[in-house]
Amino acid sequence: MKKVLVLALSLAMVFSLSIMTTACGDEENGTLLAVTEPTFPPFDTTDEDGNLVGFDMDLMNAIAEDQGFKVEYQALSFDALIPALEADQADLITAGMNAEDPERQEKVDFSNTYYDSGLAVVVKEGNDKIKGFDDLKGGKMKVASQTATTGAVETLKLKDEGKIAEAVILDGFDTCIQQVVNEDVDAVIIDLPVAQSYMSKQPGKIKTVGDVLNAESYGFAVQKGNKELLDKINAGLKNMKDNGTYAELYSKWFEQ
Ligand code: GLN
Repeated sequence: MKKVLVLALSLAMVFSLSIMTTACGDEENGTLLAVTEPTFPPFDTTDEDGNLVGFDMDLMNAIAEDQGFKVEYQALSFDALIPALEADQADLITAGMNAEDPERQEKVDFSNTYYDSGLAVVVKEGNDKIKGFDDLKGGKMKVASQTATTGAVETLKLKDEGKIAEAVILDGFDTCIQQVVNEDVDAVIIDLPVAQSYMSKQPGKIKTVGDVLNAESYGFAVQKGNKELLDKINAGLKNMKDNGTYAELYSKWFEQ
């Protein structure tokens, strides 16, 4: 009986260990698991074969090569990214994530920032009723944004203050943009460089109106307390800026 119990316990231990090593990347061979949300071009998107590509992946891959590790990528919904790190199901987040959010800083640690951005209002081309953020506030508009993002925070604030009729919070920014084009919503609150990417993909369909709503800077996130990985990312990021790789990748994803 005792032998059976020992065998069962050791099998359970092996099984739980195997889950932990596969939950993140395969750390033995230096491959880490990064999670992202791929409706955020040109930072995080998919190519025609469905591969996860973008400025974030290229920059993280360059940092990883410089610092002697590898990264594999997995797509999740944006609201699942930080919980994945908290549950030790991933090692890092590469998702155009605003690093200056105090609530997020309590849950994960952010690298030095690598891109300065801000939110914008997107409406359908030809819509002359909405010329900026303040024109959303008549109490009648339907405004969309992506779940758990800084855009969703602004949209829900407008709803809570009774300044819009409906806050439409969706999983993907691609769907948010489609709903503006289909006139299912009046506007989307979205990161300006991402709005510009969607505008370039479907010219003449959408436009940004008014001024940038806020200032935010993107960082890579690691599990709380993973100083070793954070130091590597920060060192690699500095090297990529110093040796011209950052500028090359910026040109590839923002200037072509
Ligand atoms: N920059 C926004 C945020 O941090 C949106 C990020 C995203 O959708 N990938 O919430």
